[in-house]
Amino acid sequence: MYNKDNVFYKILKSEIPAEVIYEDEAALAFHDIHPQKKIHALVITKGLYSNFDDFISSASAQEIRIFFSAVSKVADMLGVSQTGYRIISNIGPDSGQEVEHFHIHIWGGEKL
Ligand code: AMP
Repeated sequence: MYNKDNVFYKILKSEIPAEVIYEDEAALAFHDIHPQKKIHALVITKGLYSNFDDFISSASAQEIRIFFSAVSKVADMLGVSQTGYRIISNIGPDSGQEVEHFHIHIWGGEKL
């Protein structure tokens, strides 16, 4: 069950700012406000999904394809495609998921 009371929903609605890297019909990418690595970006869905499980079971095949292509594009734009990077998605309480709007973390720019 998606709850609109989360910070990424506010970013999607332009109620709060973000340092945007990329945007298309399915994805919005911006820099993490508290980077844990030299490069730390977030790619969030435009659709309202609370986590990966929700996204993969409810989104259309086209939306899923566009979203994950966007993740790859953003890595390329950040210059980490050649050097390597890590993608992470936290799902639920044990993972430490803080924001209940599906997102992928991109870490890179250094040895992980
Ligand atoms: P997660 O624990 O996977 O839900 O990660 C949420 C991430 O969102 C954390 O890395 C936070 O630093 C990041 N974050 C929280 N608020 C903002 C914001 N306003 N702009 C950018 N990143 C944010």
